[in-house]
Amino acid sequence: MQRVFTAAHLPEAHLVRGLLASVGIPARVLNEYAPGGLGDLPAASAYPEVWVEDERDLLLARKMITSYEQDRPAAEAQRCPACGEENPRHFAVCWHCQKPL
Ligand SMILES: [Zn+2]
Repeated sequence: MQRVFTAAHLPEAHLVRGLLASVGIPARVLNEYAPGGLGDLPAASAYPEVWVEDERDLLLARKMITSYEQDRPAAEAQRCPACGEENPRHFAVCWHCQKPL
């Protein structure tokens, strides 16, 4: 199992899982029952994640997700490549980990 996507919310996670399923990649949504703001959990684990079951599908899965992210409206946030947090498009560094975006 390999994580390929951290979604902002559950519907997005299922959308990505469906996207992968449509090209024959078996994937699972994890953290499905962990809504944001769960007291003691680290923030990253409170988001739903999409994992592919077979690592041989990784490359194609990442391609699908990249094109999914590019298809989103321009006003949408950009995702930090280092920590996966969402940042407004005009940010040059991640608000969360301070890495360049
Ligand atoms: Zn970051």
